[in-house]
Amino acid sequence: MIKAVRGTRDLLPPETALWDFVEAEARYIFRAYNFHEIRTPIFEETQLFARSVGEETDIVSKEMFTWQDRGRAQSDQGQSLTLRPENTAGVVRAYIEHQLWKRGLNKLFYIGPQFRRERPQKGRYRQFYQIGAEALGPPSAGSESPTRDAEVIELLASLLERIGVAGWALELNSVGCAKDRPLFNEALRKALAPVVIKMCADCQRRAATNPLRVFDCKVPQDQPIIAQLPRISDFLDADCRVHFQQVEEILTAVGVPFTVNDRLVRGLDYYTRTAFEFTHTALGAQNAILGGGRYDGLSEALGGPSAPGIGFAIGEDRLVMSLSASADEVMPKPDVYVAPIGAGMDREAARLARELRRDALVVELGDETFRLKKSLSTASKLEAKFLLIVGEDEVKAEAFALKNLGTGEQVALARNELAKKIQSGT
Ligand code: AMP
Repeated sequence: MIKAVRGTRDLLPPETALWDFVEAEARYIFRAYNFHEIRTPIFEETQLFARSVGEETDIVSKEMFTWQDRGRAQSDQGQSLTLRPENTAGVVRAYIEHQLWKRGLNKLFYIGPQFRRERPQKGRYRQFYQIGAEALGPPSAGSESPTRDAEVIELLASLLERIGVAGWALELNSVGCAKDRPLFNEALRKALAPVVIKMCADCQRRAATNPLRVFDCKVPQDQPIIAQLPRISDFLDADCRVHFQQVEEILTAVGVPFTVNDRLVRGLDYYTRTAFEFTHTALGAQNAILGGGRYDGLSEALGGPSAPGIGFAIGEDRLVMSLSASADEVMPKPDVYVAPIGAGMDREAARLARELRRDALVVELGDETFRLKKSLSTASKLEAKFLLIVGEDEVKAEAFALKNLGTGEQVALARNELAKKIQSGT
């Protein structure tokens, strides 16, 4: 038997109802904050991720699905291509390619699969889904403003509240800017020099190439050493400090609770200034529901104009796991089961079903070979609210028997009265 590949999975009903629910609510929130949808390709040139996410990150150094494409001619070496491990790089690539800065501040959102070759476990998959957003544009459009940082974070708090995720916590930090980073890296290198020999092989490499990434280390034995390293909060320049303070002040003013964690650097190189993560208590080891931050130099790093921005990516798999609603609660049930009873009734039943669906009702259409008893039991199994009986007598009399399957009450109604009665739910 051929099975889904390790780290991938089928999402099946009724659980997909939760995914639909979450995506519909996210779209609603994005509309309210004036974000618009962008869909970028699922694979891109490998270079894009190497240059944005960073060569030394776990994502680029270990986790990407990369292959050498074939060139046009047989002898041609094709491009190196990669399944996207995240979507910010693709959005910024599209921003540059389509000169989206001509529209001022761009507020874009995406929903889609991402791919990382991680060790699969609960809440960690090789194909997973993200709901994300990016607000970027020229500095003249206000893209650097702390207002933007606070707005996207507050958007997230509103979304979590709307979909009924309780028990989240927000951690916030500033990872500084291009001006502070060399100073901090230097201090880290110095602090690491005498101790790095006791650390894991990854950290030994990171210490030499990109010391900030040492903070991504999950090896327990390394943690006491990491705890003693310099703190980025001591290296922020005056502008970054003020920026961070303003983000904190706005969040406090709008009532979004947070804690500052000056060890939070997030595992991607492009972050500058504000970095944040929302965690959830019920998720276990993989407790981060979403993460995000500012990436003021990313557009330039990819050959574009200055386009400071801030964005986030919600892990949709984990968001769905943290919902208090059950799939059964949000799964739409048919409003009515239309049961053709007797030979030749299927046409009339199909007509009625079509009319009722036009009235925005959820309709399940039965099969003419079913008798009344079987129709009833099928309708009950589907948890339909009503059963509509379409038999020869009903058609002749233009009076259809509509049975409320909850109360057992049955009424005879004309065709044009049916939708209203079903919509009333009683
Ligand atoms: P990142 O792009 O690493 O900042 O991740 C953003 C969010 O995506 C995380 O907080 C997780 O919720 C989710 N995520 C990242 N990697 C995975 C994965 N392998 N499986 C499931 N969710 C993931």
